[in-house]
Amino acid sequence: MSFDAYALATPGARRLQPYEPGKPLEQLEREYGITDAVKLASNENPLGPSPMAQRALEAVLQGVNYYPDQHALVQRLGERHGVAGSAVTLGNGSNDVLDLVARAFLLPGCNAVFSEHGFAVYWLATLACSAEPKVVPALPSSHAEMPYGHDLPAMLASIDARTRVVFLANPNNPTGTWVERPELEAFLDAVPEHAIVVLDEAYIEYVDLAAFPDGTAWLSRYPNLVVTRTFSKIYGLAGVRCGYALSSEPVADLLSRMRHPFNVNNLALAAASAALDDAGFVAHSAATNRAGLAQLRGACQSMGLEVIPSIANFVCVDVGRPAAPVYEGLLQRGVIVRPVANYGLPDHLRITVGRAEDNERVIDALASVLRA
Ligand SMILES: *Cc1c(COP(=O)(O)O)cnc(C)c1O
Repeated sequence: MSFDAYALATPGARRLQPYEPGKPLEQLEREYGITDAVKLASNENPLGPSPMAQRALEAVLQGVNYYPDQHALVQRLGERHGVAGSAVTLGNGSNDVLDLVARAFLLPGCNAVFSEHGFAVYWLATLACSAEPKVVPALPSSHAEMPYGHDLPAMLASIDARTRVVFLANPNNPTGTWVERPELEAFLDAVPEHAIVVLDEAYIEYVDLAAFPDGTAWLSRYPNLVVTRTFSKIYGLAGVRCGYALSSEPVADLLSRMRHPFNVNNLALAAASAALDDAGFVAHSAATNRAGLAQLRGACQSMGLEVIPSIANFVCVDVGRPAAPVYEGLLQRGVIVRPVANYGLPDHLRITVGRAEDNERVIDALASVLRA
């Protein structure tokens, strides 16, 4: 039997490259025989999960014989953002809602527009539908204000009659760059009505900048706007998987049709709901991050390394040489960061902001690797 699974697969499945997660701590410790490794590779919260979410998780365990009920969290999120519950779509992480948008709006022959250094999941979601990724060059590395940032005029110009989705992360991962209110507003005004704009705000809770736009304020004005948020970053719940989209009700209705009925589990619902109330933890996480960003940026710059502007919980650093051996050297010193060659940045490493002592550790290790 000459069975060829690849020949039978959809064109998109054949083109897909599996997502490469940051190396897990236990894997590094196993492979290198190290015991006190630190992971600053996946933009996770170094302070742990929200304590209120932890208590909620313990309390919900007795109820896991029941299927999940999304109602309470959906209502709470609607209230939080000043929209009806029918404008909220929950996901198994915000990756899930990105995928729902793709599945609801992308067909083979259609395209999704996103930036050269855009999030890997935009590739995955687009190719899973056998649609075409339309990748737009970013601003040049020599750009005065926002090197490697989104080039909104170029993104706008690349939208064509077959574009159904535009993915735009603000701040962006893996660069940390951002777009401000007037330019984003002008962009949304100009996007034609046959394209959905997905504004991915996974890191917005870390941002402390007056000119930074909150996409939810525009929901009533742009019926083609989808704003996505996540509990994986500042709320410290990456492992339970919960994210959501806010959109006009027709878009939410369509996303909901594509959704697996029980896509968010009981633990995620309870933890997310409790974490929303944990304003103290969020504020503490943001403050820790602010100090850590300055610490990492300052240390890298004093080593003579260029750091891409970032207002998220990571920095993307040009190590001035191919980054793969530097990444390896850091692993040997028990520090996991993220190589970003798959994002078109072969000389950069992305470092998640940790606690002060974690940052110290990565700075010392980086100095040692670059010296060697
Ligand atoms: C981390 C991240 C997310 C969140 O993914 P989850 O599935 O919610 O864990 C979404 N978008 C971007 C750009 C990210 O970096």
